[in-house]
Amino acid sequence: MKNTRRHFLHKITASALALTVIPRLGMAGLPDMTEAPYDGPVLRVAIMGLGGYGTRVAEAMKDCKKAKLVGVISGTPSKVKAWQEKYGIPEKNCYNYDNFDNIKNNPDIDAVYVITPNALHHSQAIRVAKAGKHVICEKPMALNAKEGQEMVDACKKANVKLLVGYRMHFEPHTLEVIRMRQAGEFGKILFFQGLCGFKAGDPGQWRLNKELAGGGSLMDIGIYALNGARYMIGEEPVWVTAQETKTDPQKFKPGVDETIQFQLGFPSGAVASCLSTYSMNNLDKFFLNGDKGFAEMQPSTGYGPIKGRTHKGELNQPVVVHQTLQMEEMSDIILHGKQPVVPVNGEEGVRDLKIMDAIYEAVKTGKKIALK
Ligand code: NAD
Repeated sequence: MKNTRRHFLHKITASALALTVIPRLGMAGLPDMTEAPYDGPVLRVAIMGLGGYGTRVAEAMKDCKKAKLVGVISGTPSKVKAWQEKYGIPEKNCYNYDNFDNIKNNPDIDAVYVITPNALHHSQAIRVAKAGKHVICEKPMALNAKEGQEMVDACKKANVKLLVGYRMHFEPHTLEVIRMRQAGEFGKILFFQGLCGFKAGDPGQWRLNKELAGGGSLMDIGIYALNGARYMIGEEPVWVTAQETKTDPQKFKPGVDETIQFQLGFPSGAVASCLSTYSMNNLDKFFLNGDKGFAEMQPSTGYGPIKGRTHKGELNQPVVVHQTLQMEEMSDIILHGKQPVVPVNGEEGVRDLKIMDAIYEAVKTGKKIALK
């Protein structure tokens, strides 16, 4: 099947592409970003949950060569109809939340991308696995580590892959900082700061409903600072401390955190200090410091363009549509067993959930929690 990518490499100058980007991308193991026709296998994906982010992924997938949107799972017939028309989805690839187990009889769908509210991921992902289809699941993968592990186990048992929608793990500026850190260019890593937040608007949205969100800002946006601390420092934390502050208890009910600050300690002695909030805009910043240099990124995890610099100068990397690149890479991971620089598998999701469980415990007890 042939496809072209119209907007994939937007906002990148031809000279930068020719002079610096292609060799670096090659080194980082990123995909062929040229307009060359593609005749290889294509991952055929159904999206479950046709909301804001599902729509963004569907639009981004228009420019994929190795992945294609072929099906939908939704509880809203009018949305299904609109998506069928927009993306040319045949009736036989449309399901609702009651009948999607029948997807097991559909040979034209390889994977289901679960993009529903957090609390639904666990049961939906397990049903998809039981139907014999690969699972891509949005972050947070589940509400806690126990649920996450059950998803990993179910996918293993069904012999399907489980990936988490960690789009930053493919983002070129991010990968360049990781490459520099691995090459020792920052020296001994000592400190990471991750600031992630936005102002949560509508008080009636599912993100502010403990039942559906499983928590508050940490589940939704603070997870980027946590995950970022791990891939930027390149180690697994051994302890965590955390504090919660709430300025609007009316809007942020019990169990829905408005702002959490957390600190992580790593085996090498490096520390991370992170802020997760639903009450501030323009909070999207990473800072990594070592004894020979630093990297800072702002924005660091938003949809981009991601910008950053190090002690050596600007990070000149291509600006990509994160979700297009993510789906291209996930196609290679699922169809060809490609190993990404930073894992996106279920085990990686569970690692974050274990630390999030500990962060909530630290908030509750005021204690420093040791991580196994
Ligand atoms: P959304 O509210 O825009 O969409 C959620 C969709 O789920 C809607 O279409 C809704 O109809 C459907 N749904 C199914 N069952 C539902 C139920 N019982 N209650 C409420 N809605 C139900 O939310 P979103 O922003 O698309 O977020 C969906 C998931 O994607 C979340 O897990 C979120 O964390 C994740 N997300 C990830 C990113 C990212 O950059 N990776 C960005 C945004 C959202």
